[in-house]
Amino acid sequence: MLIDSHCHLNYKGLVEEQQAVLARARAAGVTGFLNISTREREWADIIALAEQESDVWASVGIHPHEADTHADLGEAALLEAAAHPRVVAIGETGLDYYYDHSDRQTQQALFRTHIAVSRETGLPLIVHTRDAEDDTAAILSDEMGKGAFPALIHCFTASADFGRKVIDMGLTISLSGIITFKNAKDLQAVATEVPEDRLLVETDAPFLAPIPHRGRVCEPAFVADTARFVAGLRGVSEEDLRATTSRNFFNLFTKAAA
Ligand SMILES: [Zn+2]
Ligand SMILES: [Zn+2]
Repeated sequence: MLIDSHCHLNYKGLVEEQQAVLARARAAGVTGFLNISTREREWADIIALAEQESDVWASVGIHPHEADTHADLGEAALLEAAAHPRVVAIGETGLDYYYDHSDRQTQQALFRTHIAVSRETGLPLIVHTRDAEDDTAAILSDEMGKGAFPALIHCFTASADFGRKVIDMGLTISLSGIITFKNAKDLQAVATEVPEDRLLVETDAPFLAPIPHRGRVCEPAFVADTARFVAGLRGVSEEDLRATTSRNFFNLFTKAAA
């Protein structure tokens, strides 16, 4: 078993040959795909693919880049979409102060909307954070105080300090192909500290192809390379890493296990 816990199968680069992409991943041993949405108008297509393919699940959410264009999106729209049996997660959501494509206050407000929906549905929150560690940790902590919700930090690239904070809050950490990059020494150190039961792997395809595929369109098959690399870092067998991260996936995304 091996799960790509975060991919964008409906994005350019993958959507044109979605069936071939899925076939290559399955041939590489990938047994599950969490297909992530970033805008409301993607939800129908993302859900349709999950209805069609038994190993593909859907998430519904608004990426922080898109917050300005979804400033009026309320909880009701997310709740309604989340009720679909193939929707197993809320997100991706969060804060991105690196690109600042949307107003920061709007990003924060929409992040809290997603959190409320995660708490209400029990579906895990998929958090994107870039150059926004302090505000991300503060909002997560404040909202956890109002009532717990399951969550993960996807494509983790933050500091060891932030990693410890979110692990203390009960979050899971998902590692992408970035971990394989030669300049990712700090991140590699963090990756060895993540508790065994809090670790996931992902591609974030079509972005961030891991070594040895850098420069190519990333696809879910490459999660196998990231898993192999992380296994090496942590001194466990590749088979163990695949089993552990798959078990963690189904423990977190309980609706996918059902
Ligand atoms: Zn992201
Ligand atoms: Zn993503």
